[in-house]
Amino acid sequence: MEELARFDTHLMDNPDISGVEYQQGTLAGYETREYLLQKFGHLCAYCHGASGDLVLNVEHVVPKNPSQGPKGTDRVSNLVIACKTCNEAKGNLQPEEWLEKLRTSKKKLDQIRVTNLPKALAQLKEPLKDAAMMNATRWALHRRLKALGLPLETGSGGLTKYNHTQVMKLPKTHYYDAVCVGKSLPETVAVSFIEVYTATGRGNRQMAGVGKYGFPIRHRERKKVHHGFQTGDLVAADIPKGKYKGRWQGTVAVRATGYFDLKNGAGKRICQGIAARFCRLLQRANGWQYEKREVCRAFLHG
Ligand SMILES: [Zn+2]
Repeated sequence: MEELARFDTHLMDNPDISGVEYQQGTLAGYETREYLLQKFGHLCAYCHGASGDLVLNVEHVVPKNPSQGPKGTDRVSNLVIACKTCNEAKGNLQPEEWLEKLRTSKKKLDQIRVTNLPKALAQLKEPLKDAAMMNATRWALHRRLKALGLPLETGSGGLTKYNHTQVMKLPKTHYYDAVCVGKSLPETVAVSFIEVYTATGRGNRQMAGVGKYGFPIRHRERKKVHHGFQTGDLVAADIPKGKYKGRWQGTVAVRATGYFDLKNGAGKRICQGIAARFCRLLQRANGWQYEKREVCRAFLHG
């Protein structure tokens, strides 16, 4: 959260982020800075905080305007995070020049820099570790959303979990997380059921089962319609007695025997061997599967 506050300030200091700047890389500059902060763990790459200076800058390892030698670029492979103190101490020196100079110094801070500088140089070409990359990406996304000027809130995974279980007291189902993110929580959460349509296959067109050498071993029934139903039809069944007594609805798997199986929307078998005469056609199989699913709707502030 501390980081978030700092970030917000940073953006507010630059209120005129426009589409043009966006294109020309000003925002890319912020993203580079975030990337580097993550990479160097919010510490000066030269003194690791030993200077006590909290102001962190993006530092060109090979200077852009060197006193001698090659000119540095703006590429991340030439950039580190450095405190203002170290940044100014290094000035326009090449890293090798600065290292030589530091080696002659008796100051404790300089000796720390002598240890850290080669490590920083080695780190230049290393990519971000996964977790750091995730953080940098998250903040880059945040910046872009913020630039749209719409209300934006952030929260940690811990806050979401706390809201979910302690404040909203919702069931564990993960989709409820969506209404538990951030500080503003919905006053009510309504859960409704909607029809969800999913495309489904149109059955196996192979006309014979084959053995392990690929020769036909059994014929498949050419006839697809049995007792007025075909596999995949959505049916309702009112079963008067027996194991499946009651009302059922699902997609049917037909058998020539006239005893069918029913599957629910999730593809799970709900009835086995129910008589065709108890079934009523609701929807002809048409390549779609119908299922009822829970969807969560949140109403903010009543
Ligand atoms: Zn430093």
